[in-house]
Amino acid sequence: MSSSINERITTIRSSLPPSVRLIAVSKKVPAEAIRSAYAAGIRDFGESRIQEAASKQAELQDLSDITWHFIGHLQGNKARKAIEQFDWIHSVDNLKLAQRLNELASQLGASPQICLQVKILPDPSKSGWSIPELLADLPTLNQYKSLQIQGLMTIPPLGLNDQEILNLFNRNRELAQEIQEQNWSHIQMQQLSMGMSGDYQLAVQAGATMVRLGTILFGDRY
Ligand SMILES: *Cc1c(COP(=O)(O)O)cnc(C)c1O
Repeated sequence: MSSSINERITTIRSSLPPSVRLIAVSKKVPAEAIRSAYAAGIRDFGESRIQEAASKQAELQDLSDITWHFIGHLQGNKARKAIEQFDWIHSVDNLKLAQRLNELASQLGASPQICLQVKILPDPSKSGWSIPELLADLPTLNQYKSLQIQGLMTIPPLGLNDQEILNLFNRNRELAQEIQEQNWSHIQMQQLSMGMSGDYQLAVQAGATMVRLGTILFGDRY
C-alpha cells in the first residue's frame, strides 16, 4: 500500500508545474499513510477536522518539517486550536471568523497564513464570501494585522461541466488580481488554493498555486 501511495505521488507531482504546491489532504487517512506520503516527499498536509488532526499530529511529532493546512469549515470555538495546530487556514469564510482569528492570533503571538474562501457562484451547500460581500469587507480585513492574508480559496459547486469549472477558476484568479491591484497594506493575493482530485488539472490551467488532493493520492478506501 505504501509503495502505491509513493507511485501516485510521484506521478502527480511530475504532472504539476514545479511552482504548484501539492497539499496532500489526509483527512480520514491514518497517520501511517501520512508517513508514507512524507517518505515520498510530501511536506504539506491538509486536514478538515481539528480533533482528528490533533491526534495524528501528536503521532507524527517527529516529522517536524510538515506544514499543516486547515481546509475544513472552522467554527469559532475551534479557532484557537486551529491557530495553534496549523500554519495555514484556507477556509476563512466570513468576517466574524476572520476577526476572531485575528484577535486570537494577536493574543497568541501567532501570524497564521490565511486564504479567504469565496463562492464565485452561489452555492447554498457551502460557506464563503460572495464576490460583492468580499469586496465590501476588504477595508475591515485589511485591519487584521495578525493575519497574513495570502489569497483566495474556492470550491466549485457540484454539477458543473469542465468548461464551467475552468471559467469559475479563471474568475477566481481575476478576482485575486483585482484585489491585488487595489494595493492593500495587509492583504496579499498571490495564492490561489483551488483544485481537488476531480478538477485539479483545470485549476492548474487557471493558475492555481496550491492544489488540495486527497482521493487521488491516498485512494478511495483509506
Ligand atoms: C476533502 C477535501 C479536499 C480533497 O478532496 P479529494 O476530492 O479527495 O481530492 C480538498 N479540499 C477540501 C476543502 C476538502 O474538504
